[in-house]
Amino acid sequence: MTSSKTASTPKRTYDALLHDIEAGLRSGRIKLGDQLPGERILAEKYGISRASVREAMRILDVMGILRSSSGSGPKSGALIISEPSAGLSSALRLHVASSRLPVADIVETRILLETWAARTAVERGNSTGLEQAREFLEAMDAPDIDRETFHALDAQFHVALSALAGNVVIETMMESLSGSIRGYVKETLDALEQWPDVLAKLRTQHHAIFDAVQTRNGDHAAELLHSHIVWLYDQARHQSHAGS
Ligand SMILES: [Zn+2]
Repeated sequence: MTSSKTASTPKRTYDALLHDIEAGLRSGRIKLGDQLPGERILAEKYGISRASVREAMRILDVMGILRSSSGSGPKSGALIISEPSAGLSSALRLHVASSRLPVADIVETRILLETWAARTAVERGNSTGLEQAREFLEAMDAPDIDRETFHALDAQFHVALSALAGNVVIETMMESLSGSIRGYVKETLDALEQWPDVLAKLRTQHHAIFDAVQTRNGDHAAELLHSHIVWLYDQARHQSHAGS
């Protein structure tokens, strides 16, 4: 009963420009730090309006491929950058917010990535970046730490640990995920009355995870990460059910 074909993305006037930039990046013709020609030149080259060029630039900007510059003149061309987690992160956050990406699935993905990363980091004997993780860990021990700072450091700690595996795609995905994770963790934990208890528990869990990685016990680190993430998510769920 397929009455109508699924509408494919309609062709946009600036598609050629986007494809050209993608092809240029792949072939190395366009490199990081390059400045794109100005709006007028691009409009002429692709036979599209300047408004269409601006629309394409905005898309690339949101995807973390380009930093647009304001103003006109010879220096007004946008710069090619690469911030993959910026683009992925905002997309993930928005889709979690719109409930198309359920938090439970984000949590599962997080468990998958983080436990894999811990085991792999130990297997590969990677320790570059361990000091970075330790700095975040110790910063979370500050006695007068506020919740906001704690959540930020918590997210950075997990990204740093995942980065130990040495896989930049996993690292980027973790950076992206951490944005959406922080959203739900913050909302729910902020409402908790017993925050000091939660804080103490989180600190203990983080230290145990770090020690397991440092002493090269990958399986143990993975188990601890698993229960830490599940425990946190349970707190968040209970809180959201208790809320009125
Ligand atoms: Zn944590």
